[in-house]
Amino acid sequence: MTSGFRGIVGNENGAKLLSRLAERGGIGNAFLFCGPAGSGKHLLASRFIAATMCRDRGCGRCRTCELIEKGIHPDVLRVGPAEGKKSIGVEEIRELKKEAYKTPVEADLRFILIDEADKMTVQAQNALLLILEEPPETTVFVLFAETREALLPTVLSRTATVATERVSPAEIKKYLIGKGEDEAAASRAARLSEGNIGRAENDAFDGYAAVSDMLRSFALKRPFAAYERFFSRKFTNREELSEAAEKLYGAARDLIVYKNTGNIEDAGYYGDDDVIKKAAPLLSEEGLFKLAELAAETAEAADKNCNVSLLAMNLFIKGWECFND
Ligand SMILES: [Zn+2]
Repeated sequence: MTSGFRGIVGNENGAKLLSRLAERGGIGNAFLFCGPAGSGKHLLASRFIAATMCRDRGCGRCRTCELIEKGIHPDVLRVGPAEGKKSIGVEEIRELKKEAYKTPVEADLRFILIDEADKMTVQAQNALLLILEEPPETTVFVLFAETREALLPTVLSRTATVATERVSPAEIKKYLIGKGEDEAAASRAARLSEGNIGRAENDAFDGYAAVSDMLRSFALKRPFAAYERFFSRKFTNREELSEAAEKLYGAARDLIVYKNTGNIEDAGYYGDDDVIKKAAPLLSEEGLFKLAELAAETAEAADKNCNVSLLAMNLFIKGWECFND
């Protein structure tokens, strides 16, 4: 398989097929990526596009690969139902026709991605069909849908279907551990994911996991164990950091309750009794209140326009200070 498809979990048949196509060239003009939500349709399509555009068949490092991964390559256009609308109308597809006949800016091919293609009205599908019947040479349409049912047989007959399937929890767990996630977080996320790899990644990398990891490492007096994980990828956006800070606030409340009553049953904001029990003896009363304050301040600042990575670093460093107060 070409390099672009390495590291994809599940959907092996689809990846093999697309890899062969990308290597051979002459890929055709229309594809339908069809499968349940979270089964990896977009990931597979994006790797396929990279494999056709990148000189190294999807190296994952060059500018082309990077632009495709970020969804901002000038030769990859993405459309879907307009905001607040339930369907894709005929006008939108007619607009696409103009786009379809433009020549590529950088690459040899131009890709037009249609999200939720099953939401195209019948007229919209017929308009698309007109384009597909006389396909512009350098444009490839990529349709995404959960099922084939809502698409006209005439449209289906002109698209190559790539079916994607949900991935097993065991495979998801293996994948997450491979990405550096710890065993417990990977297990939990895989179990809750219902085979949805995108969701599993979100769950595994959520604020809960990051804070839990941080607190555990503090409780074990090994802050450096969590430091790298905490900064390598945890907090890329403010929502995530805000959520993590709120979790930490919940943990601080639990710690206060637990220290007060000595009964873990009374605590219940945070959800990881083991971490609470381990951390409690290490925190002075003052340190504990400082931790709660730090969490509240961070959550508030994250919601405003503050620098997310600086805030995360501040949370980590001052959090560790609370343990040593
Ligand atoms: Zn590349």
